[in-house]
Amino acid sequence: MRLLLIGPPGAGKGTQAVRLAARLSVQHLSTGDLFREHIDRDTELGRNAHTHMRAGLLVPDAVTIGVIQERLARPDTERGFLLDGFPRNLAQAEALDGILADAESRLDAVVDLEIPDAEVVRRIAGRRVCRRDNAHIFHVEYSPPEVAGVCEVCGGPLYQRDDDREATVRKRLEVYRGLTAPVVGHYRAKGLVTTISALGHVQEVLDRALVAIGRGQVDASGASSC
Ligand code: ADP
Ligand code: AMP
Repeated sequence: MRLLLIGPPGAGKGTQAVRLAARLSVQHLSTGDLFREHIDRDTELGRNAHTHMRAGLLVPDAVTIGVIQERLARPDTERGFLLDGFPRNLAQAEALDGILADAESRLDAVVDLEIPDAEVVRRIAGRRVCRRDNAHIFHVEYSPPEVAGVCEVCGGPLYQRDDDREATVRKRLEVYRGLTAPVVGHYRAKGLVTTISALGHVQEVLDRALVAIGRGQVDASGASSC
């Protein structure tokens, strides 16, 4: 399956992507995580990306598209992939369509996570991620690790991302509305989008996402399960 998870910063894309990718046995690809790996390795690409990320802006398309094109060419995406945080504007969406068309492939579904701004701010303010693996995501209030500041998955130190400060979050929300929200329209026109609420427990959101992609069940009461 080739899936795309879209939604504002803090909607829970990374949290859901890890779970969905494991459930579906597909590769989780997060451009944000790929950039943070470059930053940790202090590469030129990482230093360039970091200047844009710190300001809450998009990393330039040429860099971002290059990173994802290289990643999609690796054999571990042959069984499918789940894109989280890409595409973030129409030019990136068109580039992705082109990359997939060249490979005689296409997206199967797009899940659009809907969440009010106030909840985004709460989620991002409390987000802590693991220094060793950014896919290990916690929240000081909603999903605290057993030992404060220590990753429950691998024991790595938790930290607050430097783009998770409130002023930067406001900027990222503005960028989302102006540049990324139109991507939903692009894929809606292709009949690929299901919008679900990102509110509720992580498991509830996961159940909704599985139903949206045709891998869950809806019980008689209308609640979903899997
Ligand atoms: P995104 O990848 O969309 O930026 P994350 O997956 O990193 O978002 O989630 C942002 C923060 O919200 C994290 O601290 C995460 O633990 C928390 N979070 C994610 N999903 C939920 C949820 N359903 N309920 C409460 N908190 C959540
Ligand atoms: P994320 O980890 O998805 O919250 O992304 C963190 C930051 O990385 C974003 O605010 C952007 O600065 C940058 N970034 C991630 N994905 C993209 C993308 N597809 N296009 C441009 N910039 C991106």
